[in-house]
Amino acid sequence: MDSHETTETTEKLFGRSRSRRYRGWLRFGTYLAIIAAFVFLLAFHQLDRLEHIVLDTFMKFAHSTQFSRDIVLIEISETVLDEIGPWPWPRSYHAAMLRLLDEWKAAAIVLDFNFSEPTDPKEDRDLSQVFARITTPVYLPVDLKPQKERKFWIHGMPVVLDQGEGKMTWVHALPKIKDHAQAIGHRELPADPDGILRRFNPFLSYGTETYPFFVLPAAYDFLKKRIPLPKDWVAWGDHHGKVIIPWTGGWGERIARYSSSDLIHSFYAIRDGLKPVIDPKKIAGKICMVGLVAKNQAEFKTTPFDVSYPALGVYADIMNAAMTGHWIRPAPFWLNILCLIGIGLLASILFILLRGALSLLSGLLLGIGWFLFCFLIFYKAHYWFYGVYPLLLIFCLFVFSAIYVQITAAREKTHLFHLATRDGLTGLYVIRHFRVIMNQIVREASVRKEPLSIILFDIDNFKKINDTYGHPAGDMVLKKTASVLLSHIRKRRPFREIDFAARYGGEEFIIMLRKAGLTEAAQCTAERLRSEIEKMKFEWEEKNIPVTISLGVATLHSGENVPDPMVHRVDEALYKAKRAGKNRVCTEND
Ligand code: GH3
Ligand code: MG
Ligand code: MG
Repeated sequence: MDSHETTETTEKLFGRSRSRRYRGWLRFGTYLAIIAAFVFLLAFHQLDRLEHIVLDTFMKFAHSTQFSRDIVLIEISETVLDEIGPWPWPRSYHAAMLRLLDEWKAAAIVLDFNFSEPTDPKEDRDLSQVFARITTPVYLPVDLKPQKERKFWIHGMPVVLDQGEGKMTWVHALPKIKDHAQAIGHRELPADPDGILRRFNPFLSYGTETYPFFVLPAAYDFLKKRIPLPKDWVAWGDHHGKVIIPWTGGWGERIARYSSSDLIHSFYAIRDGLKPVIDPKKIAGKICMVGLVAKNQAEFKTTPFDVSYPALGVYADIMNAAMTGHWIRPAPFWLNILCLIGIGLLASILFILLRGALSLLSGLLLGIGWFLFCFLIFYKAHYWFYGVYPLLLIFCLFVFSAIYVQITAAREKTHLFHLATRDGLTGLYVIRHFRVIMNQIVREASVRKEPLSIILFDIDNFKKINDTYGHPAGDMVLKKTASVLLSHIRKRRPFREIDFAARYGGEEFIIMLRKAGLTEAAQCTAERLRSEIEKMKFEWEEKNIPVTISLGVATLHSGENVPDPMVHRVDEALYKAKRAGKNRVCTEND
C-alpha cells in the first residue's frame, strides 16, 4: 500500500466513524424526544385514564385495612321499608330514631337526609323539637342543586318567584332543623369521566358559601381535632384539588352495620324488659351514620369495587379515612416528572449498551421493577406514583431501539457485502464474486439455450504508464476505464447488453453479455469499447496519457454448462489481440 492509498483508506475509515458518531447522537436525540413527548403527555394528563385503571387495581389488592371501631352504620334497607313503611317516612319516624340514638348515648349522628322540603307541619315541628332537645350532635348534608326556580311556601303551597337559568343553589334543611345541626357539609360525589367514583372534594365552594364534605366535621369533632383547612388538603389532592377515596374493600365488609328496624325493635324490647337484638353498648360512644341502602330508594355509585355501591358506604369509607388518618397521597407533579425522566434516561442507556435478548430483558426488568415499586409504596406508605407513563415510555423506547438496531444491522450487512464483493479501487466486482455470478448465468443460459458472450480486455503497455507518469496516474487510468464500464452498466447504453463487469487482475477487466452472440459482442460492444477508450482523454498533471486496450471475445458453445472453457478461449483471444499488435479486438474464431 503506498501513501496515496493509505490516505484514502484513513479518510474512508475516519468518515465512517464520524457518521457513526453522528448516528449515535441522532439515536440519543430520538430517545430524548420520546422522553420529552411523554413529559408532555403527563403534564397535560393525556393518559390519566390508564393511571386510574391501575389505581383501581392497586386499591383492590392494597385497600385500607385500618378500620375505625367508632363508626356504626344504621341502614334503611328494603326489608326495613317492608316492615316499617314505604319511603319517604313521616318526619316523626326520623324523630323517633334520633331520640333513640340520643338515649343510647351515640357520640354523634350523621344523617344522610336533607329535610329541605316542608311536609306535614306537625311532623316537621315534631322533628325540629327533637333536634332542639337532644344533646348528641347531629350532622346534616346540604346539597348543591340546579336552581330550577325560586319559590317560597304559604301553608304548604309553593309560590314561584323566578326561574333558575342554569345556576346552582345550595339546598339546606328547613331553618328550624338546620339551626340545631352541629355542622352541615356537602355530599357531592361526581364520578370520573369513565363513570367510576374515585375522588371527593374535601371542600366545595359555590357562590359565597363553602362547605366541607359532610362526614368530615363529625370525624374531626369526634377526634377533638380541628378540621384541616382547604389549603391543608392541597398536598393530598390531585390537580383538581380532589382527594382519592381510600376504600376499605367491598361494601360495608368491615364496618359495623345494623338494620334500623332491629334498632327500633331492640329499643322497645328493652322498654318491655325483653332481650334486645342490638345491645345499646354497641351504639354508645359511636358515630352513627343513618341512611338508605334500599335498592330503589338509595343513591348508588360505581366504585372500583362494585358497580352499585350505596352512597352510605362511600361516606363510611371517607369517614373511616378521616378517623384512621389513612389517606392516599398522590406523588407531587414534579416527582412524577422526575421519575419519568429518570426511568426514560436509564432505559435509553440500557438499550444503547445492551443488545438483543439482553436489551429486552433489561427493559422487562426495569418495567416490572418500577411497577413493583409503585405497588409496594402504595401498599406500605399509601403513596401513589404514576406507574403507567414510565411503563409506556420504556415500551416505546424499546420499540424504537429494536427498529433502530434492525435498520443499522441491515445497513451494516449491505455495507459488508459491498466491501466483500467490490474492488476497492475501481468499484467493479472482484473476480471471486464475478465467478459466482458467471457460474449461475452460464447454467441458466445453457438450460434456456440463450447466447452468452464474454469480453476480456487488458490495458496496453500499462507498465509503461506506471513507469512514465507514476503509480497514481496508473490508478487514475484504471478508475477511469472502470467508470466507463460502470456507467454503461448503469445506463445500459450504448452497450445495452453489458450485464456484469469485474476487475479480472491488475489492469485486466472481464465483461459478461447476456443474450449476445459472438459477432454481436465483438462488433457492437468490444469494438465500440475499444474506440471509446482510445478517444478518451486521460489527463495527468496537465499531460495527456494515450491509453488503448486489447480485447478478446468468446462465446458459450452449445452443450457447455460451466464457464471455464469459455474463459480459456477468451484468454487466448486476448493473447491473440496482443500478439497481433494491441489496440484491437480478436474473437475466439480469429
Ligand atoms: P501489455 O500491453 O502486454 O499488457 O503490457 P503491460 O505493461 O500492460 O503488461 P503487464 O501485465 O506486465 O503489466 C501490468 C502492470 O500493471 C504491472 C503492475 O505493476 C501494474 N499494476 C497492477 N495492478 C495495479 C494497480 O492497481 N495500480 C497500478 N497503478 N498499477 C498496477
Ligand atoms: Mg497490459
Ligand atoms: Mg496485464
